[in-house]
Amino acid sequence: MHDSALVLFSGGQDSTTCLAYALSKYARVETVAFDYGQRHRVELDARLQVIKALRAQFAQWAARLGQDHLLDAGVLGAVSETALTRDTEIAMQANGLPNTFVPGRNLLFMTLAAALAYRRGLQVLVTGVCETDFSGYPDCRDDTMKAMQVALSLGMDKRFLIETPLMWIDKAATWQMAQQLGGQALVDLVVEHSHTCYLGDRSQRHDWGYGCGQCPACDLRAKGFAAFRAAGVKN
Ligand code: ZN
Repeated sequence: MHDSALVLFSGGQDSTTCLAYALSKYARVETVAFDYGQRHRVELDARLQVIKALRAQFAQWAARLGQDHLLDAGVLGAVSETALTRDTEIAMQANGLPNTFVPGRNLLFMTLAAALAYRRGLQVLVTGVCETDFSGYPDCRDDTMKAMQVALSLGMDKRFLIETPLMWIDKAATWQMAQQLGGQALVDLVVEHSHTCYLGDRSQRHDWGYGCGQCPACDLRAKGFAAFRAAGVKN
């Protein structure tokens, strides 16, 4: 019987939805993020706003929401050169992966999260990785996560469960999930406080939230929100 979880929570739409998912399911929930020299601190700031808003607006979840952790993963910036850690244009590479791909990033994050969960006595690791995402990051695949679950459980001699509630759904369905978990109030919270834009733009407000409106992350979020809205109108 699982009753506690650690959510990998970056402050984006996906991980905010995952946090709501965990809060609806587990009695004790903690959050963790990684600071690895992101080009913009906006996401790390956004996550604090999301946590604050969740506590203020969802009393039943506030009682379950425990400590927030921020771990330094700056070593990633030292070993990899990507558009997320350096000031370069986002582009597709010859191998079919965008240059936002940071080799080993999720593997490192899952390992650090498991070590933290071990210390905090938390059983489930919840992450918003997704195979239907446009980018096809190999370390977001279902097989990778299943292999990590086995490796971490064996390597730490503790049975971890890795949950990936968004693995097979698209962005429209992620908005839908937020609506099912917390109604319009949660959808509004995700729109207002979560941050997805690669360029860190918080100056332009759209019906789907803040962002440049041009980068691949904004494009995906905007299209997903439009599809979610259109489906809602039909129902
Ligand atoms: Zn953007």
